[in-house]
Amino acid sequence: MRFSELGLTTLKEIPSDAEIVSHKLMLRAGLIRRLASGLFAWMPLGLRVLRKVEAVVREEMNRAGALELLMPAVQPAELWQESGRWDKYGPLLLRMNDRHGRDYCFGPTHEEVITDIARKELRSYKQLPVNYYQIQTKFRDEIRPRFGVMRSREFIMKDAYSFDLDEAGLQKSYARMRDAYIAIFDRLGLKFRVVDADSGEIGGSRSQEFHVLADSGEDAIAYSDEDNYASNIETAATSRDGIETPPASLDLTKIATPGIKTITALCESLSIMASQTMKTLIVEGDEGLIAFGLRGDHELNAVKAQKIPGVASPLTMASPESIAKAIGCGPGFVGPVRIAMPIFYDHATAGMSDFIVGANEKDTHYTGVNFGRDLDVPATVDIRNIVAGDPTPGGKGKLSIARGIEVGHIFQLGTQYSEAMSATVQNPEGKNQAMAMGCYGIGITRIVGAAIEQNHDDAGIIWPTSLTPFDVVIVPINMHRSDDVKAAAEALYDELCAKGFEVLLDDRGARPGVMFADAELIGIPHRLVISDRGLAAGELEYRHRGDAESQNMKREEALNLL
Ligand code: ATP
Ligand code: MG
Repeated sequence: MRFSELGLTTLKEIPSDAEIVSHKLMLRAGLIRRLASGLFAWMPLGLRVLRKVEAVVREEMNRAGALELLMPAVQPAELWQESGRWDKYGPLLLRMNDRHGRDYCFGPTHEEVITDIARKELRSYKQLPVNYYQIQTKFRDEIRPRFGVMRSREFIMKDAYSFDLDEAGLQKSYARMRDAYIAIFDRLGLKFRVVDADSGEIGGSRSQEFHVLADSGEDAIAYSDEDNYASNIETAATSRDGIETPPASLDLTKIATPGIKTITALCESLSIMASQTMKTLIVEGDEGLIAFGLRGDHELNAVKAQKIPGVASPLTMASPESIAKAIGCGPGFVGPVRIAMPIFYDHATAGMSDFIVGANEKDTHYTGVNFGRDLDVPATVDIRNIVAGDPTPGGKGKLSIARGIEVGHIFQLGTQYSEAMSATVQNPEGKNQAMAMGCYGIGITRIVGAAIEQNHDDAGIIWPTSLTPFDVVIVPINMHRSDDVKAAAEALYDELCAKGFEVLLDDRGARPGVMFADAELIGIPHRLVISDRGLAAGELEYRHRGDAESQNMKREEALNLL
């Protein structure tokens, strides 16, 4: 393609609403344009990249035996009522009415629709296994759309759904998808990790996420190479292994702490570290309030906490009013000593002695608190976010933390949807049996942003070969003044196109600096510069986008190299 026909406007200025590098570069390179919050248009150059992602995903899905279909984006409420998610999904779901006042939503995901299709199409175990997939636009009314296409409201997802007769079949389908995902992200040239994850809104038992590693990632991943363990921090587990309770050395003492309501303020006023304090958090339970005790420097993990029997799910912090009613003080002074509600202690608290807690009285704390004397010896639970250095659940190593961007997610759903929606087939015994389902998502649009996060420098994008909008850019110097340069550039362009390369010829007649800057910004891997000087020496200049230096070489040599 000729640059003059690309209709591309690159920007020098960094758009002010863009926080991370991929968002900035996608706007500057003219890949996307913003329409409204979380809504983006894919411009011609960006769309070329998006299509590359789709092509790789489609090829590997087909290779893994999945069948492509296309479902409606708009879904009737009845299906969501049948699965029970119409009420559960919350404000993420964009709901709407048609002219008859019937309820619909714009699909954030398609479990209901595919289960409806499957219950109509699939009658016998002989038709199984089946794995249907589509590449399609989703809408989720995200609370905080940001980072451009990485967390937008409208986005493109590849979603696949497998149907098997039983659990054993599901395990096979799941493993096949896991392998296909590894092949996809390898081919896309991304550095990634497969991590254990929570199943979230979608439900089901086992799930794993695929994360592209990048410092700007919204997710934290805990991993240990010694233990071959990797998990989203949401679910990363630790153990009580090796934690012993030191003996008490101080007496229990009540002290006045007027107006000191936070751990930070407490640490400042007593010159202590947060790890010497215990924080007590109060949440809603099925039968009244429930308390959690954590070391002051640790964070409660909602996913783990809401799985404790009796604790409300989703996790709901108790209001200051209900805390005052139950305990008689504000949240800043709550503590475990003689607290009038069930309390669960985190594993790490077992390693504490002589610590400081709220005294369940306004403006007072206890110091010198000890288990076994002032508090019952706790049967501890895992309820906090792990931190780097925590023991792995397997006990073989220590956890490290990296940041990641979730680009794929695979779930074993089991029979949750097939039972709720009666999606059954006849089994070999002639009885109706609910099918075992899996579901498998890939964020097609998010991958483009994630790839840029991993592949850029100060000058712009550095596309992996599998994603680049063009393979080669030809930069002719003074093309409009030199007939020789023009002829050589056109001939090279024709030859490369004929050989099957996707070539961009910068025919704008712009200054060399402008052409070089744009070529670097939009990240084309191979650049060939043609100039009168080069032609006189029988050479052209080659540079790979990732290299610091260019090389002069003969035309044939450059063609061979490409
Ligand atoms: P997240 O935790 O990032 O909100 P999710 O777990 O809710 O994502 P899934 O339901 O697993 O998302 O959807 C499958 C894939 O769709 C995700 O792995 C992600 O790559 C992509 N995706 C989800 N939400 C968005 C979004 N708002 N913008 C772009 N891509 C998204
Ligand atoms: Mg997910």
